[in-house]
Amino acid sequence: MEKYIFLTGGVLSSVGKGVTAAALGKVLKERGFSVSIQKLDPYINVDPGTMSPYQHGEVFVLDDGAETDLDLGHYERFIDASLSSVCNVTTGQIYSEVIARERRGDFLGGTIQVIPHITNEIKRRITIVPEATRAEIVIVEVGGTVGDIESLPFLEALRQMRSDVGRENTLYIHATWLPYIGATAELKTKPTQHSVRELRSIGIQPDIIVARADHPMGAELREKIALFCDVEARAVIPLTTAEVLYEVPLLLENEGVGEYVLERLGLESRQKPDWDEWQGVVAQERTERPHVRIALVGKYVELQDAYMSVREAVTHAALSAGVEVEILWIHSAELEKGRGWRELETADGIIVPGGFGSRGIEGKIQAARYARENKIPYLGLCLGMQVMVIEFGRHVLGTEDVNSTEFDRNTPHPVIDLLPEQRGIGEMGGTMRLGLYPCKIHEGTTAAKAYEKPLVQERHRHRFEFNNTYREIFNQHGIEFSGQSPNGRLVEIAEHRDHPFMLGSQFHPEFLSRPNRPHPLFRLFVETVRDRAHAGDPQSEVRVRDSVEPAE
Ligand code: GLN
Repeated sequence: MEKYIFLTGGVLSSVGKGVTAAALGKVLKERGFSVSIQKLDPYINVDPGTMSPYQHGEVFVLDDGAETDLDLGHYERFIDASLSSVCNVTTGQIYSEVIARERRGDFLGGTIQVIPHITNEIKRRITIVPEATRAEIVIVEVGGTVGDIESLPFLEALRQMRSDVGRENTLYIHATWLPYIGATAELKTKPTQHSVRELRSIGIQPDIIVARADHPMGAELREKIALFCDVEARAVIPLTTAEVLYEVPLLLENEGVGEYVLERLGLESRQKPDWDEWQGVVAQERTERPHVRIALVGKYVELQDAYMSVREAVTHAALSAGVEVEILWIHSAELEKGRGWRELETADGIIVPGGFGSRGIEGKIQAARYARENKIPYLGLCLGMQVMVIEFGRHVLGTEDVNSTEFDRNTPHPVIDLLPEQRGIGEMGGTMRLGLYPCKIHEGTTAAKAYEKPLVQERHRHRFEFNNTYREIFNQHGIEFSGQSPNGRLVEIAEHRDHPFMLGSQFHPEFLSRPNRPHPLFRLFVETVRDRAHAGDPQSEVRVRDSVEPAE
């Protein structure tokens, strides 16, 4: 029988529910169970694919092409699994489905209501996860905070699940926040008590309370929460804000969460958890390492969540390369105005990540030019590859008219153009080239050195591509198309021949990086950055960009 663990949040948002779900998944996986994690998002959008990164942070893409919440990225990185589109459900999806069925006449004239029609559809989406993802234990995280109007149907569905699948097969965890009062130096439990009361008024009694706080919690507080919230003291799990993200599973392990959860679900551990590798990652992250600086040139840099997976992929590569990376968040629109260059010039490497639309694009192109001319290691991710190509085209063809048709529909030199299959697509949602596609790697290239294998699979999310009309001239002038679709039609990786590391991928390697298994492209990029930054290489000292007037 499948087991379900439901995770709700209380007091305030951003208590780290996503990471808690991911870390719990890891704790259970270490005991020999197959685990899957699902996120229920109460917003009405069908998926986050059409939402602004300012609203929602990064859009995480799965193998099957689903555009999902960034928490799915945490889940995959912690439990080291490839999740499926069934793992992210939104109110928008639920209503679309129910309304489509109503239009088809499936309800035979009945009145369609939140209970039971909407809640039934929610439960259907939850109960398909074990089979779809071959999981014995499914952790279901509900977005938002208990008390929100829009999450009510989800909570009602979770409540019903207990009688549907049986008490012994369900477990409810409530994650809350303990505020710290500086004047009296104490953590307060009252908001947690209120939040649990709110949850109970909906009919859910939590079995475990995860109490996140910025300060350690004493035994009395644990007893107090247990008493007021009607759980055992050992079911109150203090989660002190971790310095290192990947430490959270170890914190949960130390609090005995794994054994308690299994006991409540009537399961027995199948193996002794082996934390050696994970502890190694955490220990490495805590070790003093030589510093390098990597500039991330994007247009959503005010909200770092918009680049969550890029940041994590850099962290993973830095751990294996034995360096500590300081990321310089540089706004590409500022570069256009001549600002931010001094900071960029201190960078040992540059990443231009994915993005859409023309705002700030020229700043990214200037950053690519700076990287090329000064031989600064450069990694372009999707849009970052396109920008690299546009910059090179302008240089080689000797005209500023080179562009992507995304930014200039009438450019005479569209080196980046719409994918043929994208022509005529009017709908915005879920219509890009999405998900996992194979890519053939050419021998003797930087890409080959990174991957060490001839065929790889990578995740995509784009509408535009390199225009093959320009392949020959680019190749003659020093661009290697080191990764292509197996039929050779699509350029998947482009790199500069005459540069220590200037490589762009049409796909998003950041989605497949793991803490203990950095992505090959990120790994080689960071290693190159490290070797150049610390080799006293005179080349790497040449950082002054004469054509730019710093206007600070
Ligand atoms: N806007 C570009 C395209 O659609 C790049 C997309 C991206 O960076 N994910 O092709």
